[in-house]
Amino acid sequence: MSNQSGPLHFGPTYVRAIAPYQAGKPISEVAREFGLEEDAIVKLASNENPFGVPESAKAAMAKAAAELGRYPDANGFELKQALAKRYDVPMEWITLGNGSNDILEIAAHAFVEKGQAVVYSQYSFAVYALATQGIGARHIVVPASNYGHDLDAMLDAIDEDTRLVFIANPNNPTGTFVPGEQIEAFLKKVPANVVVVLDEAYNEFLNEEDQYESAAWVREYPNLLVSRTFSKAYGLAGLRVGFGLAQPALTDLMNRIRQPFNVNSLAQAAAIAALNDSEFLEKSARNNTAGYRQFVEAFEQMGLEYVPSHGNFVLVKMGKDLAAGARVNLALLKQGVIVRPVGNYGLPEWLRISIGLPQENAVLIAALQKALAENRAD
Ligand SMILES: *Cc1c(COP(=O)(O)O)cnc(C)c1O
Repeated sequence: MSNQSGPLHFGPTYVRAIAPYQAGKPISEVAREFGLEEDAIVKLASNENPFGVPESAKAAMAKAAAELGRYPDANGFELKQALAKRYDVPMEWITLGNGSNDILEIAAHAFVEKGQAVVYSQYSFAVYALATQGIGARHIVVPASNYGHDLDAMLDAIDEDTRLVFIANPNNPTGTFVPGEQIEAFLKKVPANVVVVLDEAYNEFLNEEDQYESAAWVREYPNLLVSRTFSKAYGLAGLRVGFGLAQPALTDLMNRIRQPFNVNSLAQAAAIAALNDSEFLEKSARNNTAGYRQFVEAFEQMGLEYVPSHGNFVLVKMGKDLAAGARVNLALLKQGVIVRPVGNYGLPEWLRISIGLPQENAVLIAALQKALAENRAD
């Protein structure tokens, strides 16, 4: 018997207060729940690459598999070498992560103390709130402007306790984008003791005219950490590889917090192959541009409001009432189409839909038309 009266609580209050991350439903779960065949299901829920793993990465993994009895290279020498060459930074400026989520978590742990503050935008990536909450830091959530980052307001919101700012560009789940000049103007004004994490998970999908050189800014701004991932355009979401670029003052600290073997051997090998597979990247970007057009035309025909997107997904409004997103989501699941409800982001009227292959997009569009027609009939 414990001598405790009342319910037993473990852990700090700030950990107990964490609302768990809601991931997209896996195909196997939807098949079980709705009695569907797995191969009849279309998943457009987690912004994955619809082409899957590049062949080049599969070959590299097959080769690396022979050495799985050994620990991975804790310093990720070859992958860092390839990244250093690609982004023209010294290898010592790179931190490897178990997905870029890991980079975001490591940054929170490395740069912020319990009680200090983290600034991020309303409707920005859910992991910023989780990483902040997980270290007992104070959240400064800045209202969005047109569903995107309001950098002027974020600058004003920085107080004396603030040590970190998260910016997603493009942003998930809204797909909004802040032009490079505005990001750089922000970097020039941010207090020097505040770390800016520029999360560029969707960078590879940007149009040529929107692209900017964030790796070059890393040379200029000692408080900038650029975060990238192999999960989206490179097609390696299941392997968990991401990386951070920053000067040694930040990178040294991050590598002390980082678990030594956080990126496994298959992931390191696959990432190098994918990084050099420009054909796959171009094919993915082309498919994304075409799929975006396909979606936007259909949404306009259906009279659905959407947020113009710079990523590989679109945020679409399903109705005016707060149950609209959940209702249409259920109607889509019954038809074997998985998308992402975003009620947990404070957007219960909306759904986030990842861009798939043309045929998958067509299935989504037809299923959406059916779901909305039923909705009207009720
Ligand atoms: C998907 C995503 C990530 C990356 O996740 P991984 O951990 O690299 O798979 C990071 N930031 C944003 C905004 C994302 O949407």
